[in-house]
Amino acid sequence: MTALGQGTWRIGEGLRTRKEEADALRLGFDLGMTLVDTAEMYADGGAEEVVGDALAGRREEIFVVTKVLPQNATRRGTVEAAERSLRRLRTTWLDLYLLHWPGSHPLEGTLEAFERLRADGKIRHYGLSNFDPEEMQAADRLPGGKGVAANQVLYNLCRRGVERRLLPWCADRRIALMAYSPFDQGRLPQREALRKVASLHGATPSQVALAWTLRLDGVVAIPKAADPRHVRENAAVGGMVLTPEDLAELERAYPLPKRDVPLEML
Ligand code: NAP
Repeated sequence: MTALGQGTWRIGEGLRTRKEEADALRLGFDLGMTLVDTAEMYADGGAEEVVGDALAGRREEIFVVTKVLPQNATRRGTVEAAERSLRRLRTTWLDLYLLHWPGSHPLEGTLEAFERLRADGKIRHYGLSNFDPEEMQAADRLPGGKGVAANQVLYNLCRRGVERRLLPWCADRRIALMAYSPFDQGRLPQREALRKVASLHGATPSQVALAWTLRLDGVVAIPKAADPRHVRENAAVGGMVLTPEDLAELERAYPLPKRDVPLEML
């Protein structure tokens, strides 16, 4: 998995034309952001269709992640949802298939479906999303639980709770932590320290926020950008390294919570 990918929430909703949205994703692919994250939930499958457009002719180069809704995540429902996603994405396999958040159907059934999809070559890897440390531990004890390859969670400069227990737990097991909403959906407070570090690098505050998210091994970030200027900015972060002084400055402005906090979700 490449560490810097692209998200697709709010894509396929008609905010821009389908062609503009697919072109933005393709621009990101061209600039090295070759992982794309989508979900059956986004625009009721519309985002997967746009990703399908963007993948045309270059499927092999791209790592495709999509998610099953918890209400569909029974043993049978998961397989059927994956097949619908494959059709919308116009591909024969998913690189990573996630359960979008913990739901009421027993996780055993979802994991069994994931294993079956993998045995059938329809998915290469599977994982979870919005699972807190206790939920990850419970999943780990189930049949198929050791196959979990990733947990996708909210993680950015102002939402650092996952660093306390979830991130080390995942890192110990080589489970990728996929950081969603690295800009907190555009609401990340731009404190003085962030602006200062950005100016030292000739970068924007968003670029520094994204580079900060990527500073740790095992973390994958999936910023969403439909505006081509944003896509270019985000791709350029791939080559940006924050110094220990930058990190210390950001630490003071956006400190790690002093005690455990419940996993946040957007
Ligand atoms: P985000 O990536 O934090 O923020 C997206 C917003 O930031 C958009 O308005 C975008 O504008 C803007 N933006 C992008 N690049 C920028 C830049 N360089 N400078 C300034 N603004 C910039 O929020 P997100 O979409 O919630 O999170 C990213 C992805 O994570 C989602 O798209 C989705 O794939 C995934 N996600 C997963 C879950 C989950 O439950 N698993 C939850 C939320 C998100 P434009 O679009 O106009 O360029």
